[in-house]
Amino acid sequence: RLEIRNLIARYEGRVVVDDVSLTVEAGKVTCLLGPSGCGKSTTLRMIAGVEMQESGEIYVDGKLICDTVFRVPPERREIGLMFQDFALFPHLSVADNVAFGLSGHKEEKRARVDELLRKVDLIHFIDKFPHHLSGGEQQRVALARALAPRPRIMLMDEPFSGLDNRLRDGIRDETLAILKEEDAAVVLVTHEPEEAMRMADEIALMRRGKIVQQGAPYNVYTRPADKAAVAFFSDVN
Ligand code: ATP
Ligand code: MG
Repeated sequence: RLEIRNLIARYEGRVVVDDVSLTVEAGKVTCLLGPSGCGKSTTLRMIAGVEMQESGEIYVDGKLICDTVFRVPPERREIGLMFQDFALFPHLSVADNVAFGLSGHKEEKRARVDELLRKVDLIHFIDKFPHHLSGGEQQRVALARALAPRPRIMLMDEPFSGLDNRLRDGIRDETLAILKEEDAAVVLVTHEPEEAMRMADEIALMRRGKIVQQGAPYNVYTRPADKAAVAFFSDVN
């Protein structure tokens, strides 16, 4: 369970994330949806711990991991990351890429790598290297790598935007099924309403650093909070 309360971020005097609060339960997907520059990635970076908020708190499973004085370092936050350009390590095999964040016994690690590569249907590529794989396959390895240490929270920033249209729907559905199985609380950033409608349990619509509307996809889509929300949903495609 991820909880963020009243997060504020400022760059060069300008507030870019403005009092954002969110709760995401384990096994659920919340989409941060909004136009370019509205503060989606900055919000994710603060949750990941690679960026410091000006104020506000972040909790994982009820435990404080970050406020303005206390800060758990990124690598100890039990957070998995998947970004569009978050590349695989080219010099490591598929197996070693997936095992990268794992500690423990060799057999344990091997079992987890096998389990995940089966889930993403790439077990036959286990000894291959990233350059042997298509973009979609690399994306699935990246998903397996991010999930390997059983993160409580999964943060995904436009993870499908590098894929061609033909592949995208299939990979979205497959990814969603795996995320549900792994029971992480997921924050998925996208500027595409269609992607949010397809993947979210809850949509948080952002504009100029603020969450302007939040709710189940159907409700947000059929009852947009204001004219700008209507325009945003109808603009695309
Ligand atoms: P996109 O959909 O284009 O990725 P976004 O919603 O992810 O947009 P952010 O990357 O969070 O937007 O950026 C929010 C605002 O903060 C933007 O106006 C951006 O220019 C600004 N910004 C982001 N990072 C920095 C930085 N390191 N220094 C200064 N300004 C920044
Ligand atoms: Mg962004």
